Amino acid sequence: MEVKAKKYLGQHFLNDLGIAERISNTITPSVMTPVLEIGPGMGVLTQFLLRNPNIDLTAIEIDTESVVYLKNHYPSLKIIEGNFLKLDLNRIFGDKEFCVIGNYPYNISSQIFFKVIENRDRIPICSGMIQKEVAERIAAKHGSKTYGITSVLLQAYYDIEYLYTVNENVFTPPPKVKSAVIRMTRKENNIVQCDEKLFFKVVKTAFNQRRKTMRNSLKSLLPSHDLNYDIFNLRPEQLSVVDFIELTNLVQQILSQPPQR
Ligand code: SAH
Repeated sequence: MEVKAKKYLGQHFLNDLGIAERISNTITPSVMTPVLEIGPGMGVLTQFLLRNPNIDLTAIEIDTESVVYLKNHYPSLKIIEGNFLKLDLNRIFGDKEFCVIGNYPYNISSQIFFKVIENRDRIPICSGMIQKEVAERIAAKHGSKTYGITSVLLQAYYDIEYLYTVNENVFTPPPKVKSAVIRMTRKENNIVQCDEKLFFKVVKTAFNQRRKTMRNSLKSLLPSHDLNYDIFNLRPEQLSVVDFIELTNLVQQILSQPPQR
């Protein structure tokens, strides 16, 4: 018996084995590496991951019907029934590093990537399939209309590869949107040489009002300071990741000065 696709869980099962195999090959560790698959569904990707002798696979799936299916078809699979967004990663991996892969539930992909960012210290690679627009946003450079919070935060810590676009018709049922496969590989050197908490705050505050200049948006962080620097004349999409890091250092320096007014 096959799993009946449930819309509210973002279930669109991939039915193209060639694409499933190519996605599984986005992670090719040379030594035994823990890998977490999010939302395996009926295991189209899982079967290829299980065949890789260097992948120590754990899967997390929220749908009970899928979990029953997976247990029947892949008895050796380590499967957790639950919500990835609530999963305590320490409980599963301790302080070990692990890779993340999936043909993800599109309805929660941004939340998945925020959790990856939070856990960047132990996630060297995150790859898989998402909605095309989301993949484009993640890979977007400054100056682009789609450049936003996830672009800056993910690109600060990861090298992003937009691998290829995938058509609707390889899914059952077909989604309304096109898809894309991406790979994010953590940068070797941490380029974020600033207060990281403040960096996140600056990026989020700036893009919350993306049409405003940095001067207007960041007023909430710097209510009584003179912001006489050129960078405050720009709008957030004009700033590169490195500009945001420099801006964070500038904001911190301004915060340490006594207020002007
Ligand atoms: N990887 C499968 C299924 C893709 S559909 C395939 O390629 O065919 C997305 C899958 O994510 C579904 O199986 C859905 O039940 C699961 N899912 C949705 N929300 C989830 C969550 N919060 N945590 C874990 N899995 C989730």
